[in-house]
Amino acid sequence: MAGTIQAVRGMNDLLPDAAPSWLRFDAAVRDVVRQYGYRYMQVPLVEVTPLFARAIGEVTDVVEHEMYTFDDRLNGESLTLRPEATAGIVRAAIEHSLTYERPQRVWTTGPMFRHERPQKGRYRQFHQFDVEALGFEGPDVDVEQIVMLHRLWRELELEGIVLHINSIGDAEERRAHRAELVAYFSEHADALDADSQRRLHTNPLRILDSKNPAMQPLIAGAPRLLDRLGSATRAHFDGVRRLLGDSGIGFTVDPRLVRGLDYYNRTVFEWMTDRLGAQGTVGGGGRYDGLFAQLGGKPTPACGFAIGIERVLMLMQDGGSTASDAPDAYVVHVGERATRLAMSVAENLRDAGLAIVVHAGGGNFGSQMRRANASGARYALIVGDDEAAANVVAVKPLRDSGEQVALSPGELATRIAPIAQPAKHG
Ligand code: AMP
Repeated sequence: MAGTIQAVRGMNDLLPDAAPSWLRFDAAVRDVVRQYGYRYMQVPLVEVTPLFARAIGEVTDVVEHEMYTFDDRLNGESLTLRPEATAGIVRAAIEHSLTYERPQRVWTTGPMFRHERPQKGRYRQFHQFDVEALGFEGPDVDVEQIVMLHRLWRELELEGIVLHINSIGDAEERRAHRAELVAYFSEHADALDADSQRRLHTNPLRILDSKNPAMQPLIAGAPRLLDRLGSATRAHFDGVRRLLGDSGIGFTVDPRLVRGLDYYNRTVFEWMTDRLGAQGTVGGGGRYDGLFAQLGGKPTPACGFAIGIERVLMLMQDGGSTASDAPDAYVVHVGERATRLAMSVAENLRDAGLAIVVHAGGGNFGSQMRRANASGARYALIVGDDEAAANVVAVKPLRDSGEQVALSPGELATRIAPIAQPAKHG
């Protein structure tokens, strides 16, 4: 016999029991982005490979090791499953002159693909909620995005997510800092691990991002870009800190925060938690004022962030957050006349906005009632021969005590709707 086929390692199914939390997150996101005037857009899951190489940077973990890249079977063009959304959005903004007349606030969501070693909170197909402000110089939009995320955490009743921010300067300041870093790390070349030695001349800034514990003392002594910002960059960062201060959101300035993608400049930020073990970054972002030009577009300042949806869901579960997709009522029916009444009653209740599951697949009252209980519905609506003959439905509360009552189809909607509706957000 043939063996069963399993999902690709690191790629997960979202099963129905886990879906209510996912949909709750989704609804909260849609609410929040609407409140801040960010507009939805989509870009393809597949882009030409040079887009990511140019945007994210040749010498980054993502581009060097983690991309799902393959050749188009017709013309041999190299294509890549998107590892993140910003590059595609900026490509689309340039291609469609999105920011030609005015700046744009946009957002998107969907799967991203990175060939990392799967572990708790880290997958090969994962999902992001992604927000971009295109054509804004900031620092107001930088802070707007942080405040927006803070509101999202509040909506979802998530606690213990802390904000780290930093400024990684402009291109010129980074070049000068880079030269200083190369000099510093070259002096201590013996203490560098293999990865860092390789990065010393390709991308020394990324050495600061090393997770190797043995490297940490050396990294702690490295020259700090934050101490060498020029006046414009410093003014920008001061603005970010001032507006953040006004917002009342607590934050830590972390001079070591660099982020793993090369396109960032000036403001960078991350939201972290200690509740997810090693994968403590819930999301992050920052400014990428050079990316439009880097991808052949007109220079356009921009700022954005991405949140890892799986990690937020883990936090929601950790915090005991509940979301339910239980119907308002489950209709139990035995006999042909009963079935016809059951189906028309269900449609009337749906007209009133209620969620009604009509039992399907037959069975006696006992087995149908077990399904009704398992569905989580607040009410069982019971129709048998006697009810069908009298044109009534027996209403039995399933989740609280209360008498079973017989109601006519006309009475049902008016009686059930007000009782069932408040439970929807419970
Ligand atoms: P990045 O695009 O690398 O800045 O990632 C933004 C956020 O996406 C991270 O903070 C994580 O929450 C999430 N994320 C990144 N990579 C993965 C992954 N392999 N699995 C799950 N979530 C991820």
